Amino acid sequence: MKKLFLCVALFTLKATAQERPKLVVGIVVDQMKAEYLYRFSDDFSEKGFKRLMNKGFVFDNTHYNYMPTSTAPGHSSIYTGTTPSVHGIMGNDWFNRSLGRKMYCTDDKSVKALGESIKTEGEMSPRNLLATTITDELRLSTNFRGKVIGLSLKDRSSILPAGHFANWAFWYSNSGNFISSTFYGEQLPDWVTQFNSEKNYQKYVDGGWNLLKPVATYDESLPDENPYETELFKHKPVFPYNLKEMFQAKGPEIMRSIPFGNDFLAEFAKKAIVNEQLGKDNITDFLALSFSATDYVGHDFGTRSMEVQDTYLRLDETIADFLTFLDKTVGKGNYLVFLTADHAAAESANLMNKDRKYDVLNVPAKEIREAIKKFSVDKYGVDFNQNYMKYNLHLNRELISQKGLVFNDVRQAFKTFLMTQPQVKRVFTEEEILAYSGNDLYINNIYRGYDPTQSGDLIILDKPGFVQNWIPTGTDHATPYNYDTHVPLLFYGWNVKKGKNHDRKEITQIAPTIAQMLSITLPNATEAKILTEVFDNKK
Ligand code: ZN
Ligand code: ZN
Ligand code: ZN
Repeated sequence: MKKLFLCVALFTLKATAQERPKLVVGIVVDQMKAEYLYRFSDDFSEKGFKRLMNKGFVFDNTHYNYMPTSTAPGHSSIYTGTTPSVHGIMGNDWFNRSLGRKMYCTDDKSVKALGESIKTEGEMSPRNLLATTITDELRLSTNFRGKVIGLSLKDRSSILPAGHFANWAFWYSNSGNFISSTFYGEQLPDWVTQFNSEKNYQKYVDGGWNLLKPVATYDESLPDENPYETELFKHKPVFPYNLKEMFQAKGPEIMRSIPFGNDFLAEFAKKAIVNEQLGKDNITDFLALSFSATDYVGHDFGTRSMEVQDTYLRLDETIADFLTFLDKTVGKGNYLVFLTADHAAAESANLMNKDRKYDVLNVPAKEIREAIKKFSVDKYGVDFNQNYMKYNLHLNRELISQKGLVFNDVRQAFKTFLMTQPQVKRVFTEEEILAYSGNDLYINNIYRGYDPTQSGDLIILDKPGFVQNWIPTGTDHATPYNYDTHVPLLFYGWNVKKGKNHDRKEITQIAPTIAQMLSITLPNATEAKILTEVFDNKK
């Protein structure tokens, strides 16, 4: 009798233990285009991206469903399951209409840096994020026993995913240290201080950056020397890159812009798993990991460069190694992984426009500002542009009323003017955006990225293919077009079915899906549909 009871008790214990994974690992690859999974596929091993693809569930047609497609809104939308119109993160930085000033997504003057940092690098928290994240809900649902840690080289990519109740978020300071802020604790954990003191970036700097594989492997990319790449810290955009020289000139900051920034982060992530005991007990923990070097390399060299291909071949190895590490420390089948990106990236307008095959342009924001100023001064005698940042124009309402002009008339005049610009497709006012009830994808994407208390007086939709970049080389992102919205989405591990789906899915579906898999509360503002395809209901 006694024996039977014990048996039942053990069975119950085991059943509850299996209800949730020990660890969820959310991987965001900054600026990863969905096509990279396939374009570079022949050169990937079976143990990295392809392990996730072949043994997990692939959503091949996942998109961002708002504009602007940039880093802070991207990470926020993945983790809250809603869009900037609701979670309030309108960009990386933006001009806030109600505050009447520019702001940075994670700025928080009420907190201080933990760890040796530069300037305001540590004055950061998730306080501007208006909705809860899947990581917040995990904290709540486990009565704050499940640990949540966010890690990235970028502050915003670590802080926003980790949410309001995170145990820790760590990000990279240009001093070469991983830092945090007093939002999370009083001092850095000892293991972080120890890691920083080891200056582990040095070995990557000493090793230099050359192609990982024989040059013939890179036939999916343009030749190394081409006119669409930017110099890397004054180094000609051609292999090999002398990192020691760059390090001497710029210091540890260079880790952001070379593929080894990803390896450095993965090294730090392993330390976090061991020292914070993530995935050790049966209460689910969450590691929110975001690889940023892909974005910096992408911006510099563009989507068709050998440098980008090399960065992904290296990241494939990094991910393979990280998965093997998870097998050993957390155990195969005990962890759940999803991998996606915070946005994708545009084709170089200059490459597209080569020999006038496709008539698109790169239009620097500076030129647009100058054109707006000229129009305003010619017509009104003053510049009414309070702030132009793609794709928002804030007009100086105070100055307009001081001049005794009617705001709506002035706004209409600016709208008519903007429509004459070569890159502009349409321009929308607040009334037009908020009243729209049709099915146009682009207007709806603008709506979902719009907040009347923060956004511009006019929202500009460029024509497809046009790029607004500071420089004519490399790439950028922010539009609602496929080249910026189409990202990978892979699920792998605990309770994940093997399979593939080609239906159009939205980025906001990830967070509620994870919530349902974990049987926890939904992030408070998500209205997205669950990706039911991914569940393995047999278990
Ligand atoms: Zn990004
Ligand atoms: Zn090159
Ligand atoms: Zn970027």
